[in-house]
Amino acid sequence: MSLDYDAIIIGAGMSGMYQLLRLREAGLRVRVFEAGTGVGGTWYWNRYPGARFDSESYSYGYSFSKDLLDEWQWSQHFSPQPETLRYLEHVADRFDLRRDIRFRARVRAAHYDQAAGSWVVRLEDGSRHRCRYLVSAVGPLSAPTYPRIDGREDFAGPAYHTGLWPKQPVSFAGKRVAVIGTGATAVQVVPEVAKQADQLYVFQRTANYDLAGQNHPLDPAYVREVKANYKEIWDTARASAFGFPYGVHERSALAVSPEERQRIYEEGWAVGGFHFLFDTFSDLIFDKEANDTAAEFVRAKIRATVHDADVAELLAPKDHPFSTKRPPLEHGYYEAFNRDNVTLVDLHRTPIQTMTAHGVRTADREYAVDSIIFATGFDAMTGALTRMDIRGRGGLSLQAKWADGPRTYLGVATHGFPNMFMITGPQSPSVLSNMPVSIEQHGDWIADCLSYLRAHGVKSIEPTLAAEDGWVAHVAEAAAATLLPLTDSWWVGANIPGKPRQLYAYIGGVGPYRTRCDEVAANGYEGFALG
Ligand code: NAP
Repeated sequence: MSLDYDAIIIGAGMSGMYQLLRLREAGLRVRVFEAGTGVGGTWYWNRYPGARFDSESYSYGYSFSKDLLDEWQWSQHFSPQPETLRYLEHVADRFDLRRDIRFRARVRAAHYDQAAGSWVVRLEDGSRHRCRYLVSAVGPLSAPTYPRIDGREDFAGPAYHTGLWPKQPVSFAGKRVAVIGTGATAVQVVPEVAKQADQLYVFQRTANYDLAGQNHPLDPAYVREVKANYKEIWDTARASAFGFPYGVHERSALAVSPEERQRIYEEGWAVGGFHFLFDTFSDLIFDKEANDTAAEFVRAKIRATVHDADVAELLAPKDHPFSTKRPPLEHGYYEAFNRDNVTLVDLHRTPIQTMTAHGVRTADREYAVDSIIFATGFDAMTGALTRMDIRGRGGLSLQAKWADGPRTYLGVATHGFPNMFMITGPQSPSVLSNMPVSIEQHGDWIADCLSYLRAHGVKSIEPTLAAEDGWVAHVAEAAAATLLPLTDSWWVGANIPGKPRQLYAYIGGVGPYRTRCDEVAANGYEGFALG
């Protein structure tokens, strides 16, 4: 059976683009299928006002090309979405990627043809494409979810999901707007919509510990220094626990005096972003007592910012430990509640009962609005994969195989699905890391693996069951050492009714994970069956 391509990559976001580049360099005939009309993935779909990355600009991007690093200029410490999309479009142009990408090409199914030892990929338009290797670059946060609220379809006005934002700018000027959700996305949307809207209602079920972003325009001297130190920056990020190029302090929040602790927290807060989490104390996600000190610090910051004491109390989380849900970075979120046109609706006191043609009805009243923004997140980590009909050996579907939760080896492959790879898949560091660092690591590892297979005349590769069992157990063990499993969050699948509960990403550290993957490769792909 002749092959149309050596490899098919699903998705032309940051990971699919990088994988294309690497597989092309390795001499493979590659095709990327992308549902959207352009490159960019997350940055293509999430065009909502206020969208920006939560990694500092200088560490959000590809590190593989010194020329690209030298020539690209970010404008802000945390640059906004339009700039990130421009960056990825620039990369696509610069490396001539588009010629191998087919847009408006949503993959519906991928079935392994055992007799031929190849994959048959079926698109929405019904066309079929045969390849040896299948690489999923669908992204861990790309299957948007809507809340299960009665009457959701009854609302007569425009409703938007932040993860499917229209390409045309949306104006909220003079409008009454409802935002459902208070996660990392809502925290970005609210301050921007508050500036335009006549009235903004923020519907909060769970308050979050939002960290100060401290965004600012980039100073040319700082940019020069960063550019002169890129090698060290990336080396640090690659060896780190979470993929950020921060200094690490191995110290407990409980080992210093309260005054010293306060000083260190203030310092981390002033630097901004995840420095507060990763660059202050090393036991915040492991030790509840240490965690309590950080939680109280953030609550005090919220109380100091929000003028209305009752609103501040509602915004200050008390029902889960700090950072056991993904802490959002805020750029004016708490200040927004000091505006006259912004109202916080506490869904614990007055739950949403239904949506109506005119707005949102809670237990005590109807909020009449012109538009609704659903900032309600994603079926994370597995949703984009299991929504496709992927079938491996013997017609086994990925959905069935993962019915009790994902089972992978290194988060990059799964037994029963030969020659299939996942970039930033479940049980890899993925969303618990600075994504570009993990994307490049997987892109490199997969490209090297395929080169090895071709050089050694190997036709198929898949993890052994034993290796997979070992990895699944290891991922669970790493999770159990932290406080993360204690809290309901999308990190553990709790936002999707019926989804098996477990920590979906690997929290053993980006650096150690890389070492493990490298060792596996160096040992002739130990834990994989080569055929
Ligand atoms: P999310 O964190 O899952 O937040 C969804 C929000 O919707 C939560 O506040 C949730 O409340 C609420 N919600 C869900 N169903 C509801 C219902 N029926 N009624 C009322 N509220 C409901 O989703 P997200 O904010 O889109 O963020 C997802 C992830 O994307 C982030 O954690 C982050 O990793 C990533 N992200 C990254 C960036 C960045 O890097 N710049 C920006 C945005 C997002 P509960 O908490 O009570 O469930």
